[in-house]
Amino acid sequence: MSFLMETKIEDCRRVVPKKPTLTPKAIIHQNFGTKASYTVEEVKESRQTECPGLSIQKKGPCLYRCTLQLPELSVVSGTFSKKKDAEQCAAEMAIEKLGIHPVTDEFTPEEAWGSLVARVSYIFSENFLSSLHPLSGHIGAALWRKGDLCGSIPISVVAVYDAKISSLCKCINPEVESNPFLAPSYITRAITELSGSLVTSEQHLWIRKQNPYPQDIIETLKEQNDLQECIQVAAVRIPSSVEESVEAVTLHISSKEYYLDIIANELGFEDAVNVLISRNLGRASSETRLFFAAPKSYLMDQYFKLLNRKETYHFEGSPNVRASYLSGQDIIGDAILASVGYTWRSRDLFNEDVTVQSYYRCGMLVGKTPGGIYKLSREAMLTAELPSRFTTRANWRGTLPRDILLTFCRQHHLSEPVFSTTPSNAVSESEMFKCELKLLSKREDLIIKCSPEDSFKKQNDAIQNASLKLLSWLNKYFKNILVPSEKLDETTDFDIQIYSRNTFQGISACQSLRTGQLNAIELDKILESICANASYTMPENGVCSLKIGGPDSGVCPCNGSLPCISYSVSLTVEGENIKEMIEVCNDFEFEVGVGAVISYVEEVVMQMSVGQSAYFTTKLLPDFIFASADDSAKIMSLLSSKKCCMEYEIRLTKVAEPLEDRMEQALFSPSLSKQRVEFAVRCILESHATTLLDFGCGSGSLLEALLNYSTSLEKIVGVDVSQKGLIRAAKVLNSKLAISSDAAVKQTNVKSVILYEGSITKFGSRLHGFDIGTCLEVIEHMDEDQACLFGDVALSYFCPRILVVSTPNFEYNVVLQKSNATHLELGDESDEKSLLQSCKFRNHDHKFEWTREQFEQWASDLGARHDYKVEFSGVGGSADVEPGFASQIAVFRREWTLEDNMVKEGDIEYDYNVVWEWNSEN
Ligand code: SAH
Ligand code: MG
Repeated sequence: MSFLMETKIEDCRRVVPKKPTLTPKAIIHQNFGTKASYTVEEVKESRQTECPGLSIQKKGPCLYRCTLQLPELSVVSGTFSKKKDAEQCAAEMAIEKLGIHPVTDEFTPEEAWGSLVARVSYIFSENFLSSLHPLSGHIGAALWRKGDLCGSIPISVVAVYDAKISSLCKCINPEVESNPFLAPSYITRAITELSGSLVTSEQHLWIRKQNPYPQDIIETLKEQNDLQECIQVAAVRIPSSVEESVEAVTLHISSKEYYLDIIANELGFEDAVNVLISRNLGRASSETRLFFAAPKSYLMDQYFKLLNRKETYHFEGSPNVRASYLSGQDIIGDAILASVGYTWRSRDLFNEDVTVQSYYRCGMLVGKTPGGIYKLSREAMLTAELPSRFTTRANWRGTLPRDILLTFCRQHHLSEPVFSTTPSNAVSESEMFKCELKLLSKREDLIIKCSPEDSFKKQNDAIQNASLKLLSWLNKYFKNILVPSEKLDETTDFDIQIYSRNTFQGISACQSLRTGQLNAIELDKILESICANASYTMPENGVCSLKIGGPDSGVCPCNGSLPCISYSVSLTVEGENIKEMIEVCNDFEFEVGVGAVISYVEEVVMQMSVGQSAYFTTKLLPDFIFASADDSAKIMSLLSSKKCCMEYEIRLTKVAEPLEDRMEQALFSPSLSKQRVEFAVRCILESHATTLLDFGCGSGSLLEALLNYSTSLEKIVGVDVSQKGLIRAAKVLNSKLAISSDAAVKQTNVKSVILYEGSITKFGSRLHGFDIGTCLEVIEHMDEDQACLFGDVALSYFCPRILVVSTPNFEYNVVLQKSNATHLELGDESDEKSLLQSCKFRNHDHKFEWTREQFEQWASDLGARHDYKVEFSGVGGSADVEPGFASQIAVFRREWTLEDNMVKEGDIEYDYNVVWEWNSEN
């Protein structure tokens, strides 16, 4: 049997073979073999620079230049003091031109150094300047700079905007990931090996080509720039002091300026020489970065290090906790968050506005936690919550758990999670799937393993379930970020094992910030506010002044249904007539009972019926307010008034019933539930029953429907464990029976209706010996052993003369779910069995669904044990056409008479609670 594999399945112990390390020359050899020819020539350079203010005569030692001849092109390297560096550089240039992208992440540090030197040299070549590359944009723009700075760019730019250099630096030292100060120092070191073809400074962090670019290239570049106008870029300032709030700033950049100088001005510096740049934030393709200045002591260290090769740092200056948390890198001093820079796509400066709102969205609680990622995917910061349970794909709204996990891993610089699904033979004979999930660091160290016990009919559901289990745990972890790591075990779920605590801690805040220089109080302050908001649970009076308006249509949400609401949230100030709208959403659909919305919203919606509106106020959720509102300055001033609260206005527009009900209505005429009622009515008519007991009556659909028929029934009783269901049943029956003029009601002989609360596996003698018992679509909602217990209790204690039990026929799901795409994908290889195995249960509350054989086995054995005759029937479909009825029914008949003292002494008598009672006399 073949099965559809929806995800790449990998072995848990993924052994990563060391990839062969390839230098540029080796790659050229692989591709061209002997067709590549290198010619190295000796050069004695002695040229004058043409940059104004600089006039240096340089008599160099013996240098080498290499020409690489390939069938389609030839390249000439820069000059090097070593022949082999010149060759590698030429190879490098050829690879770049040909677009061959070699794997670079497996270099040894020595090899990485060699390639780094070659790459830096290539970047300052004339060829490179006229190519389209983020760095060539920088070098071109820097030609506008005056004096010494003409043509020079900050070294951090080289480290950040060239993926190859960045990954080479990571080979030298993986800490480059989290420490943005390291890469520039490696590049500086590489420059010293280039024997003067590039210029840098001991005091500063800039880099420039020794010899100027040819005048014609410069002219063309400047002409292109002339066409551009002055642009305004919205950005955000994140002060290093947490006392100061994050604020919007505007960068005015003219085409004759280097944009990094403008950013440096905003940070309080004259020019960009010491600007450092973080990695990009958010999406992989995003240009959003943090810009900040290298602290003075860093520059000293830098020089010291060059001589010393020592790898430790100590900074002056205050760590910027918010910026560090945002980027996962150590950031010192004030920072500017902006989305501006040169790209691969165009020579023009790319820019996009970054607002305070986007700062909150990409950072802090919102963009970095599973719950926040989910809220963003639903565009409902103040309402949506990551659901606690995955029921079915059909009921899930927003980004699926597995995709949220992928985003989470990307945001926290982890490897892609590894899923391994295994078939398991669970309760039923059909194959089920379990999924184990592992989180790995970028270096493939195992961080967490999540192995939930739950098994699913569909492999993909098992994967989504495991993803959600882990996400929920991670969410909890983020709320307890300040908990010391030893205490972490207490928050651990039994399904989750943590392997590498240290790596994992690095996820939450920057490692060195936690252990190092950071003033612990500052971190506390920020995280405290994060935690306070995150762990926000509704206090008992969390919802204030709730008003529900509009007529009660009687159509209410219940567990498993999908209500759809339109809502708006505004900030209001107590006692004043101020109202600032912060979130509006029109058609927001969610599944009830799985925590898919903030608890107080669900609580209110559960009290509403379709067409009604509700108003209430609650406590603030500061982080989410900023992530949701556009006008942060206005919100800030409102919040400072302290008497602020959030006001919700919700309208319940419709309720989609659980999947099962929708299918039953769409595919059967009359609907399957109506057919079950008609079946029960036929049994009542045939047997002339006067008393009826409905086991698991739910919200009373059968009892209500029976009142429309003229039968012999005089007394009808319903029992259920669900108080919610019973209250709804009471409402429905009450209004139906109250209309005494209703001809339909008058038709019936019903004199008494009672609703009891309690489990049908217990026994109360008041319910003994009824003429007919019905138990429609109930047993599959109980565990299998409880369903068996019910059968025994019903036939040995309740002893109705007739008992009608219905339950879904699992085999019929093939028909019901036929339109489902997965079945089509199974294609030709599918046989009936695999088709059935890919079916899901009709309702997520079902504990089991039986095949005809399973049901008949259960019912026959049960009947035999208690001396009841059993007949099989059903509704929807037909007994003689495969796969049988949609709802299978067993009718048990007792042909012996009850003795009066049937209830034996010593038997436990359960006192059912009367929820509602009606008599025809009053
Ligand atoms: N018979 C109704 C409701 C079916 S839904 C109808 O056909 O519309 C299943 C119902 O079984 C639910 O209302 C649930 O509360 C009830 N139920 C589940 N386990 C039960 C138990 N042990 N005792 C009583 N009712 C139970
Ligand atoms: Mg059911």
